Amino acid sequence: MNYSNIKGNLESIQNRINEAAMRANRDPKDIKLIAVSKTKPNEAILNALEAGQLHFGENRMQELQSKMDEIPNEQAQWHMIGTMQSNKIKYIAHRVNWIHSVGKAKYLNEIDKRAGQSDHHVNVLIQINISDEDQKSGCDIRDLERILEQARQYEHITVKGLMGMARFTNNPEEVRSEFALLKSAFDSHQYLNGGNIDLTELSMGMSNDFEVAIEEGATMVRIGSAIFGARN
Ligand SMILES: *Cc1c(COP(=O)(O)O)cnc(C)c1O
Repeated sequence: MNYSNIKGNLESIQNRINEAAMRANRDPKDIKLIAVSKTKPNEAILNALEAGQLHFGENRMQELQSKMDEIPNEQAQWHMIGTMQSNKIKYIAHRVNWIHSVGKAKYLNEIDKRAGQSDHHVNVLIQINISDEDQKSGCDIRDLERILEQARQYEHITVKGLMGMARFTNNPEEVRSEFALLKSAFDSHQYLNGGNIDLTELSMGMSNDFEVAIEEGATMVRIGSAIFGARN
């Protein structure tokens, strides 16, 4: 695979982000592009860095750990976006910048403990199950208030927002209502802000549905294949 197109792919995604933002009367600067580099070699990430991309997402904790080790770029921001496993949190919590996929309060405890050991601070998003598909993780919207209240005790975590994954579909219009549901949970829990709860980020939208997600309020889009090519 040749990774020389990454710069052009990033530019064309950025243009599409800008257009979707304009359609929704939003400032494109309020939308962060997270380049999802899972399964891709360091060479691909280095090309993206060279093109000015600074936010990278990975879905496996050990892969994220080795990429953080092998790509020592001070400005790169690393996002854990995949399924959490309590026993692997120790590999990343002391150095990762963002964790999007916290669906259970017990993970907060482990993240805080491990981050605290290195005096590190982690931005966390609570993942909500918006698609009602069993294989997608995330908490029930009804548990969100309880998880946020529990998060208040942790010194090494700021809860910065919510994350969700829509059902896979070839027609992104079909999942507009799932994104709208996440946005409404985001809006209706703003009253809990204060201390280390600061709900400002809404992570939703992937290669096939990010424009609809932006129209519905996404502030972070997680895009892999449209930047780096299809995965095996
Ligand atoms: C892989 C992945 C993405 C990116 O998927 P693409 O369809 O390649 O853009 C986004 N979010 C999560 C949680 C993922 O695991």
